[in-house]
Amino acid sequence: MMHVQGNTIDFDTARAKLGTAETTASARRKIAKLGEQFDKVQLQLLHSLQTSLDVEQVLGLFFNGVQQLLQVDGLEYRHNAEPSACQLGQPAMHRCSYRISHARSYLGELQFSRQQRFGENELLAIETLLGTLLYPLRNALMYRDALRDALNDSLTGTSNRLALNQNLERDIRQSQRSQQPLSLLVLDIDHFKQVNDRYGHAYGDAALKAVANCITDSLRSVDGLYRLGGEEFVVLLNSTSLDAARMVAERIRKSVENMQFELDSQPIPLTVSLGLATLHADDNASSLINRGDHLMYDAKRLGRNRVCVES
Ligand code: GH3
Ligand code: MG
Ligand code: MG
Repeated sequence: MMHVQGNTIDFDTARAKLGTAETTASARRKIAKLGEQFDKVQLQLLHSLQTSLDVEQVLGLFFNGVQQLLQVDGLEYRHNAEPSACQLGQPAMHRCSYRISHARSYLGELQFSRQQRFGENELLAIETLLGTLLYPLRNALMYRDALRDALNDSLTGTSNRLALNQNLERDIRQSQRSQQPLSLLVLDIDHFKQVNDRYGHAYGDAALKAVANCITDSLRSVDGLYRLGGEEFVVLLNSTSLDAARMVAERIRKSVENMQFELDSQPIPLTVSLGLATLHADDNASSLINRGDHLMYDAKRLGRNRVCVES
């Protein structure tokens, strides 16, 4: 059976409480029982937590500090807007959790766990040490958001050209090292200017998003979709031969063609043209994209709503 101690606290409230002279003195007395080690760990955390902007690293440093003071087996971190939780150490039966917020901004939830119940002095020590984590954690979360925004396209939610440049270089090296194939699709929406001209820019934006979602739904989670700009996208297919990539390209083409996209209950047909290139020994990122791009233009010339594959 799991025991979660009922001390989930809002950090702002806890700090406000600890801030009164009386409780500060009483907290100090209780923490003093933990010995000089407490002051040492607190000072060390104040320095070490400033050395990283990586959320997991910051939490790892904090966990190490707490472990120097108390017997703690596991630390779990969750954030409702973050894709994955972070688990350090081994989760155990007795838990104490804290909801961390600062100046009304939510910074996530931390759950410490171990085999024995946490004592009152120990909880107080954890709560006081959490003060050292507050700003480093907030900064690391802000940095993570900034990185994500820099690599994502705000309209469609897909990755952007900068992310493509970074990932394609990396994937080419990986593919050359592992002797695995790498294929790339360049995709452009057909007659998209007409969509904007006929129905307006806002509707064009909605159509762009719908096409991006439709492509994402046709891909495996390991494949990457990038908006190159305008209504042009790239799909990166790792460990995928030309033949396998041809099937992916056809699947995308058909999904977009069959997509039910309506304005005022009137269906609007949307199609895409695709160029498919696969990595050659002498390729680099731009030569591969250029070949895909030329093949996409071949598909346009040949009548659109089709896939052109390199011979
Ligand atoms: P083709 O079949 O040859 O690709 O024709 P096209 O009309 O799609 O090509 P063209 O390059 O002439 O036009 C692309 C249009 O895409 C131009 C611009 O109005 C539209 N567009 C580019 N980016 C956006 C965007 O972010 N939102 C909207 N609504 N439209 C965009
Ligand atoms: Mg177009
Ligand atoms: Mg275009």
